[in-house]
Amino acid sequence: MKLIFLGPPGAGKGTMAKRLAAARGIVHISTGDLFREAIANKTELGLEVKAIIEKGGLVPDSLTVRLATGRLAAPDCGKGFILDGFPRTSAQAEALEKFTAVDAAVNFELSEAEVVRRLSGRRLCPSCGATFHVDFMPPKTPDVCDVCGKALVIRKDDQIEAIRNRLAVYTRETEPLISFYGERGLLKNVNAAPAPDEVFAAVRKIL
Ligand code: AMP
Repeated sequence: MKLIFLGPPGAGKGTMAKRLAAARGIVHISTGDLFREAIANKTELGLEVKAIIEKGGLVPDSLTVRLATGRLAAPDCGKGFILDGFPRTSAQAEALEKFTAVDAAVNFELSEAEVVRRLSGRRLCPSCGATFHVDFMPPKTPDVCDVCGKALVIRKDDQIEAIRNRLAVYTRETEPLISFYGERGLLKNVNAAPAPDEVFAAVRKIL
């Protein structure tokens, strides 16, 4: 099965994509993860996109399409895939459509207030990569990693200005894709507000 996961940042696309990919034995492709990996490894791509991502902007379409289609061409995608965070613009959606057909675009719906609450509460351990949330998954000691004891940080793109920017970019560039996939009869809407197990059950039902 070939799927696209759409929705604002913080809607839980990554969490749902990981679970569904594991359940169906298909590949989870997150362009955000691929970019973060490139940044961590200080590759040429990483150096090129670091500042854009930290401000919450969009990486140029040409770079992103090349990265995503390159990954989709790998043999492990033959059985199916979930694209999480790609496409994010009409140009990317058109490029993807030329490259491969998809079976459905699942749109995770979440209010702006809830997006801000979810993203601004995220905390990351810069040392071991463990993630927490001040409301939903607080560490035992505030701002300290349960796993390795290091001080937790807020990802640069989870700082309030970057969140506002990501939301504005989402509304302007990505939201139009809801009609793009709706017109093609591929759109499936899911309410992303409930707890993860409930959202996951809804995704499985809809597919
Ligand atoms: P994510 O983890 O999906 O929220 O992605 C993190 C950041 O990576 C985004 O805020 C963008 O800066 C960049 N990014 C990820 N996917 C794309 C895409 N399809 N097009 C452009 N930029 C992207």
